Amino acid sequence: MTDPANRNAALAARDLKHIWHPCTQMHDHETVPLLPIVRGEGAWLIDAEGKRYLDGISSWWTNLFGHANPRIAAALSEQARALEHVIFAGFTHPPAIELAEQLVSITPPGLDKVFFADNGSAAIEVALKMSFHYWLNQGHGEKTRFIALTGSYHGETLGALSVSDVALYRKTYAPLLLTPILAPSPDAYEGEPGETPAQVAARRLTELRALLERHAHETCAVIVEPLVQCAGGMRMYHPDYLAGLRRLCDEFAVHFIADEIAVGFGRTGTLFACEQAAISPDFMCLSKGLTGGTLPLAAVLTTRHVYDAFYAEYSAGKAFLHSHSYTGNPLACSTALATLAIFRDEPVLERNRALAAHLARRLEPLRTHPHVAEVRQTGMIAAVELVEDKASRRPFAAGDRRGLRVYLHGLEHGALLRPLGNVIYFMPPYVVSEAEIDHLVAVAVAGIGRAVT
Ligand SMILES: *Cc1c(COP(=O)(O)O)cnc(C)c1O
Repeated sequence: MTDPANRNAALAARDLKHIWHPCTQMHDHETVPLLPIVRGEGAWLIDAEGKRYLDGISSWWTNLFGHANPRIAAALSEQARALEHVIFAGFTHPPAIELAEQLVSITPPGLDKVFFADNGSAAIEVALKMSFHYWLNQGHGEKTRFIALTGSYHGETLGALSVSDVALYRKTYAPLLLTPILAPSPDAYEGEPGETPAQVAARRLTELRALLERHAHETCAVIVEPLVQCAGGMRMYHPDYLAGLRRLCDEFAVHFIADEIAVGFGRTGTLFACEQAAISPDFMCLSKGLTGGTLPLAAVLTTRHVYDAFYAEYSAGKAFLHSHSYTGNPLACSTALATLAIFRDEPVLERNRALAAHLARRLEPLRTHPHVAEVRQTGMIAAVELVEDKASRRPFAAGDRRGLRVYLHGLEHGALLRPLGNVIYFMPPYVVSEAEIDHLVAVAVAGIGRAVT
């Protein structure tokens, strides 16, 4: 038997012998602890020695209704006894049918067709290929490019990475990637002094128009993360940009791809972020919260109009060609159905509004902190931008790894905070309580104090 006081270290040592972790310089684990989690309970993660960590980032933005959620677990277990998986070409099953019906009914109007995939990046690949193939089927094979925003993140497979602009992930692999046309992000933080978020959005739309005038003929689609560019540092922008983008896409005959993988399912205050601009995109990508954070699953919703461009005699060769072995997995679909049932049965968005307001009140004092340039929030996403110099907003050098200090302080004090560079953010599961938010913010504030000195 392992000494109970050494269970974490024993499991970590076994892990490090064989496992290569994502988004990690493995050498860091010579000094940064690798934490074995054995249980989850509500917003909490519990390690092998019984220590509890409040999951302030919803385990990479996936969890909505708490870890080991009993209702989702019951649905999963029931489905596992009935049917765990079946090939999704030529075959179908009730959970996928039911889920497609529900997704069509809750997403913005016009999104009537659902293509399943099994993770966020795969959903982006599907949307990019579908958009390109739509134009090809319409006799516009010259449309081969995509417009993405600066600071965007759409995943890390080669296609998804191609339309991403976070240097950390992209730079190394750039020689392998498609070259997107980058449009300046409407990110309000990057606005001119005194400019309102709506004014930044308007200015960026003018710049996008100029890009479309030059490139629309070769462009399949514009892809954006609606309202919040998450991996790019939780940068936020005004909904006017989405409304303007919808008009420009129509005017210039390019598709609008909304990547709601991180912001969908209530994160920004509405069920989908696009609702805040009252628009429907041509493609909407969903994943992460879709299963409440239980299993990998993704869906790409599109219009009947797009679908019809592929619908023809077999001999016309117009069919969409994309398949993943686990497409529409019944277990994953059952957890998504349980997640949507919670949205129906409980006042989730209303509760989130109260929680978001509480979080905002607790973060308010940080606005005057000498190393905080901005505290920003959209619904259940809040972020604190640390800088070396408040007046000029000069950032701390990335190599200082200030965020890592906040992360380590958090682990010591029972909170999982995982800053993105100099951005400390809060994206807790919706089951978090006000007292738990207080804990999270208190730990973050102390961690920031340690990180900036
Ligand atoms: C996480 C994320 C993805 C990629 O999803 P994975 O399941 O991690 O591949 C794509 N787009 C956005 C906006 C994301 O936040």
